[in-house]
Amino acid sequence: MSGGGGDGGRRAMIPVALVGIGKIARDQHVPAIAADPDFELVAAVSRRGTVEGVAQFTDIDGFLADGPEAAVSLCVPPSVRTEMALKALAAGRDVMLEKPTAATLGEVEAMREAARATGATLFATWHSREAPGVAAARDWLGRRRITSASIVWKEDVRRWHPGQAWIWEPAGFGVFDPGINALSILTAILPGAFRVEAATLVFPANRQTPVAARASLRGTGGYPVSVDLDWLQRGPQTWDISVETDGGRLVLSEGGARLTIDGAEQLREAEREYPRLYRRFADLIHARESDVDVSPLRIVADAFLIGRREYGEPFVD
Ligand code: NAP
Repeated sequence: MSGGGGDGGRRAMIPVALVGIGKIARDQHVPAIAADPDFELVAAVSRRGTVEGVAQFTDIDGFLADGPEAAVSLCVPPSVRTEMALKALAAGRDVMLEKPTAATLGEVEAMREAARATGATLFATWHSREAPGVAAARDWLGRRRITSASIVWKEDVRRWHPGQAWIWEPAGFGVFDPGINALSILTAILPGAFRVEAATLVFPANRQTPVAARASLRGTGGYPVSVDLDWLQRGPQTWDISVETDGGRLVLSEGGARLTIDGAEQLREAEREYPRLYRRFADLIHARESDVDVSPLRIVADAFLIGRREYGEPFVD
């Protein structure tokens, strides 16, 4: 186990290794760790990427065998993440997972079991749940009866995922890679279970994952939730969740950074999602607890299970 313990009230510094030095590791994880007094980045594991000033390893086996004792933060794609997580957990390392937690629900269970076996902390992150408006939305909605909800998540894959081949391969999630962020917010602000009643997934003729998806869900008590995901949106990008209630209409827009109620702005703040995730990881490690919620992944899995498939234009990068 990495980290943990204390010295008379002061928390011990947690050494951490970043695995998968790609876009999100560079954009968010490296700066969030650097700014967090609880963590020290001690190693980077990547076939090609490097982080200045820390030990470098080209694979997880080499790192676990010869690297420093450290927690592990996995920023690789879901197709390869579970194998690495299982190795790290078996070695007793505390593990933080990028979203989507895994390629399948069965993989999540295997990781939970591995964490239980060694007593390691397992933290399956959902960064969008740390968006500024999410907690206030949950509080406001908790005092009202929900009548319907809608997700509209439309962005430009060429702008946000340039040249990333893995998102179009099996286990890459396609448009559900961003779409699951919306579902992570939905399942955080509204209590209870969601079942997928119908879904349509649109696949480019030359790709393995969908470029667009629509789904109809039911929340607890039967209220409808519509989901509209598109990955070919040019111009302004749309990341909106609206909820109708017996006491007014709540809208979380800009991915959760802006909250309005009946059109009146309640909150609009710069996001600090990754610093908040590392705070939570430190708290979990010190408490020797895990946090793994599969509810967003289950909705995606169910949409794939029952969705109708349509085939569209080939996708050209
Ligand atoms: P990326 O830029 O493609 O980076 C992925 C990293 O994983 C690279 O360092 C890569 O290569 C390593 N890797 C190891 N095995 C790999 C394999 N078989 N295929 C591809 N890469 C492999 O991806 P990313 O955007 O950082 O996304 C990684 C994860 O973070 C995804 O689950 C994504 O949903 C999540 N995320 C991304 C964003 C974003 O804005 N991009 C935001 C939030 C969350 P090397 O080993 O060769 O260095």
